[in-house]
Amino acid sequence: MTSAPVKTLIRGGRVLDLDGDLDQPTLADVLIEDTSIAAVAPDLPAARTAGAAVIDAAGRLIVPGLVNAHYHSYDTLARGLMEDLPLEQWGTLCGPLAIGRSTEEIYARTLLGAVDCLRNGSTTIQDMATLVPLNDDHVDAILDAYRDAGIRVILSVSIRDLSQVDTIPWLAELLPDELKPLVGTARDDFGPQIDFVTRQIARIGDRGGMVRWALSPSAPQRCTPALLAAVGALARERAIPVYTHCYETRAQRVFARDHLDAFDGSAVKLLEASGLLGPHVTIAHGVWPDAAELDRIAATGTNVVLNMLSNLKLKSGVAPLLDYHARGVNLALGCDNSSCSDVQNLFEVMKLFCLMAAVSTPGPTPITAATALRAATLGGARTAGLADKLGAVRTGMAADLLILDLADPAYVPFNSAVRQLVFADAGRAIETVMVNGRVVVRDRRMATVDEAALRRLVERAMPTVRRDFARSRDGFARVRPALEEVQRRVWADPLALNRFVGGPRF
Ligand SMILES: [Zn+2]
Repeated sequence: MTSAPVKTLIRGGRVLDLDGDLDQPTLADVLIEDTSIAAVAPDLPAARTAGAAVIDAAGRLIVPGLVNAHYHSYDTLARGLMEDLPLEQWGTLCGPLAIGRSTEEIYARTLLGAVDCLRNGSTTIQDMATLVPLNDDHVDAILDAYRDAGIRVILSVSIRDLSQVDTIPWLAELLPDELKPLVGTARDDFGPQIDFVTRQIARIGDRGGMVRWALSPSAPQRCTPALLAAVGALARERAIPVYTHCYETRAQRVFARDHLDAFDGSAVKLLEASGLLGPHVTIAHGVWPDAAELDRIAATGTNVVLNMLSNLKLKSGVAPLLDYHARGVNLALGCDNSSCSDVQNLFEVMKLFCLMAAVSTPGPTPITAATALRAATLGGARTAGLADKLGAVRTGMAADLLILDLADPAYVPFNSAVRQLVFADAGRAIETVMVNGRVVVRDRRMATVDEAALRRLVERAMPTVRRDFARSRDGFARVRPALEEVQRRVWADPLALNRFVGGPRF
């Protein structure tokens, strides 16, 4: 005998459907049974909704939960610590904060990030976790934090087998040997790293559908072709999605040209040769591919997750978003690290996505508010192979949704739901957040997490974090001249590709 489903009725709200009326969405009831949406229709009959807990949604807008499709949980305690640094310098300063952390700190930082995401409307996150050393307890701490917050996660553990100092152009020759460890000289064999990941997948499973596993080679230039081929084979064999950084900066483009001889200087060709292009693969950033590479990304159905906040804060340039869109590439949106965005807020990213099209194109473009909301919902769901489950408030989908208060000034007067959501709201109107049928934010407060207790956990971790960041800053000061020389050479390089308005001026 099966027990009766737990029912929730969200009554009388306007339900935003990307294929419906985007300006004045129709009024409907949303019936949730257990973890799924059982019905979306006006005035559901009482017999259908008997026994349901009722959420009155009069004067409310119901939208699908957002998918933060590129995120790292390791540096949430470092937000606000840095600015005005290009990626290669930021990474040197921030990277040590991922190394040798305590289980308590990992739990606290992960929970804090999850709360930030949920309160800003992200109900699913793709966390590309960095764990040094690899440790079962630390994976458990991450997933326990996500369980306690009630957020859905696509989790990957970043792997690499080439050192940081060897994968930044010219840096190995510019730095004396004794300073190289300050940037990173670790070159770990990839076999044990892949074994670790597969063991976690077998050990933990999907936790009732709330966890989906992915594979993450850190970036093509940071991995040997053998590592990439092993990931490509494993992903195909197990049908696991893959997320990898690619072409985030001009320095990475220059590095690929000068070091990937066997692949015609193309990181995208290296990925393709490794079986790492296709609908199961998502490239994070994709700021610096050339036209031929954009064609391969599109032809293979590879997804791209754009991270405009992070790209601009780290001076990486503007991704060719209109070129992607014109080629039909599935686009998702992400917020990337908390120390380079510095907030996990897809409302900001959606707005920026729309506005960035004008950087190159003063005429009308197809990057509208609806395009942005689609990228932040269905686009993200597709990167995880979950488009049949996430990204829309429709019958049969998982019950992941936001209820927004239309009395918020962002929606007054109520002219267009989708435009005001993208251009006027920044997440302030979020009143209720539901994930998998469970209310996790109620009346704008976390229903699942005691935030005062969380702040105490964070405060307990901070003396160590501050001590280690101070050390990292001292080390960074010693290698900074070499990193600035790298930057000078990168900008002086005659590379015939520009991702800056009016060309870079250095
Ligand atoms: Zn990233």
